[in-house]
Amino acid sequence: MTEIHNVLIIGSGPAGYTAALYAARANLKPLMITGVEQGGQLMTTTDVENYPGYPKGILGPEMMEDFRKQAERFGTEMIWGNVTAVDLSKRPFKVSTQDGQTFEAKALIISTGASAKYLGLESEKKYLGHGVSACATCDGAFFKNKNVYLVGGGDTAMEEAQFLTRFANTVTVVHRRDSLRASKIMQDRAKANPKIQWLWNSSVTEVLGQDQPHKQVTGLKIKNVQTGQPTQVPADGLFLGIGHEPNSHLFKGQLEMNAVGYIITKDKSTYTSVPGVFACGDVQDPIYRQAVTAAGSGCMAAIDAERWLETQAD
Ligand code: NDP
Repeated sequence: MTEIHNVLIIGSGPAGYTAALYAARANLKPLMITGVEQGGQLMTTTDVENYPGYPKGILGPEMMEDFRKQAERFGTEMIWGNVTAVDLSKRPFKVSTQDGQTFEAKALIISTGASAKYLGLESEKKYLGHGVSACATCDGAFFKNKNVYLVGGGDTAMEEAQFLTRFANTVTVVHRRDSLRASKIMQDRAKANPKIQWLWNSSVTEVLGQDQPHKQVTGLKIKNVQTGQPTQVPADGLFLGIGHEPNSHLFKGQLEMNAVGYIITKDKSTYTSVPGVFACGDVQDPIYRQAVTAAGSGCMAAIDAERWLETQAD
């Protein structure tokens, strides 16, 4: 007979590892299916300086390794791989992975995160974490007195441009149209900021950089989308503010989500629309999206799952 796990955790960023740590310490012997990008978005960051407890900062991948070890120390079983299907229609819930294995669990914690959207350029990938970033809150402080560019025209872009002006000399917003999608108040604030400059009807076509003495961005190729006119500008960094996508496609039609796919959690808890299924971290958070808030919600999910399991007869 297949073993029925108490708690199965899908996804391994700060939310998933923290849920695993708490569930393991509650003696629930959690099983975690890590995803193939084990560790999540922090694996593509370099220094993390805003996670409390690391006064000197830490590399994103190292921090995730610490999280993993701590969760394993208390008995979390980890399986590397991607979940390809879930059945939440009856309990125990069924979870299948890419290699054809199926697992059953009384409670499920979803911590599949979100992915920042990128332009899809090879050169953007090459300099990711070396001048290219999709998180101003995380990386803005590394651009003191630098000249940076930011792509996007929505609220995220306005907020991030404003934030970046705390550090950078100039922040040039590159937008593919001649009007912004952002709310009026955010637009007005950004437009009143003397450090923010604007490049309308434009798109970044290539990130330029150097590998020596260390890998860094040195410039951008930009095209005017109306005239086709290419230009090349010196730049110290490129930020993407073109939105995020929650990794929730597996649960479509099975869990309540908002219009853009964020899983809805109830009344400031991690309860989803299906009893026994809990969600934490960026897959249910379009607002804060920080490692520390994700970890906090992971802790909440483990506690919610533990208390919910106690209410269920064996
Ligand atoms: P949005 O989808 O609102 O905006 C994305 C922006 O990026 C648009 O201007 C879009 O251009 C541009 N864009 C998308 N893809 C590309 C691409 N491939 N190349 C170039 N440009 C591209 O996403 P946001 O993350 O800004 O906002 C998401 C939601 O979160 C919104 O509802 C927003 O209001 C909310 N939010 C609220 C905040 C607040 O109130 N403090 C802060 C941040 C977000 P185009 O306009 O041409 O489509």
